[in-house]
Amino acid sequence: AELRKERIKKTKTVCTYCGVGCSFYIWTKDRKVLKVEPTPESPANGISTCVKGKFGWDYVNSEERLTKPLIREGDHFKEVEWDEAIRYVAKRFKEIKDAHGPDALGFIASSKATNEESYLLQKFARQVIGTNNVDNCSRYCQSPATVGLFRTVGYGGDSGSFSDIASSDLVIIIGANTGESHPVLASKIKRAQKLYGQKLLVFDLRKHEMAERADMFIRPKPGTDLVWLSAVTKYIIDQNWHDEEFIKERVNGFEQYKSSLEPFTLEYAEEVTGISKDTLIKVAETIHQSKTMVICWAMGVTQQQRGSDTSTAISNLLLVTGNYGKPGTGAYPLRGHNNVQGCSDFGSMPNFFPGYEKVADEKVRSRYEKAWGVTLPKNPGKDNHQMVKAIHEGALKALYVTGEDMGIVDANINQVGAAFEKLEFFVVQDLFLTKTAQYADVVLPASPSLEKEGTFTNTERRIQRLYEALPPLGDSKPDWQIYCMLAKALGFNWDYQHPGEIMEEAASLAPLFAGVSYDRLEGFSSLQWPVEKDGTDSPLLYEDQFPFADGKAQLYPLQVDYLYDVDEEYDLHVNNGRLLEHFHEGNMTYKSQGISRKTPNAFIEISKELAEERRIQEGAIVKLISKYGSVKGPVHITDRVQKHEIFIPLNDTGELAINRLTGNHADRDTNTPAYKEIAVKMVVLKEK
Ligand code: SF4
Repeated sequence: AELRKERIKKTKTVCTYCGVGCSFYIWTKDRKVLKVEPTPESPANGISTCVKGKFGWDYVNSEERLTKPLIREGDHFKEVEWDEAIRYVAKRFKEIKDAHGPDALGFIASSKATNEESYLLQKFARQVIGTNNVDNCSRYCQSPATVGLFRTVGYGGDSGSFSDIASSDLVIIIGANTGESHPVLASKIKRAQKLYGQKLLVFDLRKHEMAERADMFIRPKPGTDLVWLSAVTKYIIDQNWHDEEFIKERVNGFEQYKSSLEPFTLEYAEEVTGISKDTLIKVAETIHQSKTMVICWAMGVTQQQRGSDTSTAISNLLLVTGNYGKPGTGAYPLRGHNNVQGCSDFGSMPNFFPGYEKVADEKVRSRYEKAWGVTLPKNPGKDNHQMVKAIHEGALKALYVTGEDMGIVDANINQVGAAFEKLEFFVVQDLFLTKTAQYADVVLPASPSLEKEGTFTNTERRIQRLYEALPPLGDSKPDWQIYCMLAKALGFNWDYQHPGEIMEEAASLAPLFAGVSYDRLEGFSSLQWPVEKDGTDSPLLYEDQFPFADGKAQLYPLQVDYLYDVDEEYDLHVNNGRLLEHFHEGNMTYKSQGISRKTPNAFIEISKELAEERRIQEGAIVKLISKYGSVKGPVHITDRVQKHEIFIPLNDTGELAINRLTGNHADRDTNTPAYKEIAVKMVVLKEK
């Protein structure tokens, strides 16, 4: 018994499934995960977790894990040793750089990997290769929210903490299925509703769990959030309900912004959004009656052609009502991946160094040039969307994708797959031979979060440490070690012995993280950026000033010059999102048996009205056809969707993979694909 006890290990880790960032102890015996034990010390979640955090760990021991580097030989892969794989990748990167220049290479960082790994991949692209072509999957989701916040309040992150959401008088959730995508946060809201009578308004197309619990559930027409947000803001100003003192002291541009709202009358909003005037007035009244308000939003807002502008409209409304810088207030773009916040924070973006300092800023660049001993490129690089385009145009020859099944999660995957086939050299680093990896010339086996040390940053900007619970499986390695081997093979002496040294370097260069250190993050301790040199962190932003030259926020006028709609031929709208049990394309959760068994096969949700109109029965097989491709699957008739709106979960990678339908249209400010603007027609293939 003593011996058995000795083999049982209890390690602190951070969940790898969503931006809530639950931390807990994970109990292991040899390679077996015994249990997950959250503790009251866990800063984001206390003693809660959801089904994914609790039961979603089998994938670490999956037989499908890659345990050896692979090099393509014709139509199959051969297993090789690390030395050979690294030598080969370094040689091909060098050849392509010498022949076509550094911008012929592109790099995709993983939002599931650690902050230190994001830092190293952008350093690899910039220092070792000499290109700013580096991006991450925030391009697919929350980049528009970051732009909306940069424009208005200055920092691209949640403006407060979960405690602010839980203590606010009013929570508005727009285009976010919090109950399934951020379950532990949803339970905080449910508790606040019950205990303190917190008000909840939900704006969404689909009647999900939080919509059912809301005081008001409002269904705008797809793609019209910008209009109702601006109309409600205008009505609040017209009634003189805006926070005059806050605006006078802390906000620029009020008069110009106010005039820009002229077209957003209640009548216009009712016509465009389908929300009645009375309802819009009720929303404005509820905001006016609430001392504090937070707004949470996610992909239902950002994955549209006006995603950045709609995020801006949210921030405008918060500014006009004085809902920044006080407890219980603020903007909360809810981050999807566990470390999508940190991956961008630590510089895997084509236009920013770590801490959102511009690559085009000479002063900043020279700081990095001095530290890294090279001349750095000054022009912003290509984002992932532009990289795919550049491959088709012949300008991008080599791609290195880490921890991202880009061939499934990018929009218009038929076109993305065709791009992969055109590459001269393609490296994929992942846990599994994903759909994307199947196109690669070299596949490098990486280790998941349980097999390494590092830090993740959750949606509250909270940086937390994770510790190694298991050794890497087979010959797989943590991403940071693979980057170091590659940099060395290309002549750069990257000699980091521990991720703590990487964080130390990042903190010495990026003022946003000046006081971040592994000592200060020991155990369950955490820090919310910005962190001053003395270790003071920032649970609530903007208490005294906004990070602009004069310390004031900026209201940002918006117009409506485009509205999404279906047309006569493609007459149905397709919405898409997560299921509680699955993470994204399901590469990890489908390999966790308990979870996999619990979820139904992929399905297409249609409304009762549509089923009656087209005489479709439950279980019938239908084909959905967009201008870019088609999917097929069984119908599930439900009142969660209405009229001509359809919902498909995004975790299927086969015949119902949503990105067979999506096109090239994207948010105009960030190139985030408009995943939520899909018009289709429907054909019944098989009656039930
Ligand atoms: Fe927490 Fe999100 Fe993990 Fe669930 S998936 S345990 S809510 S971090």
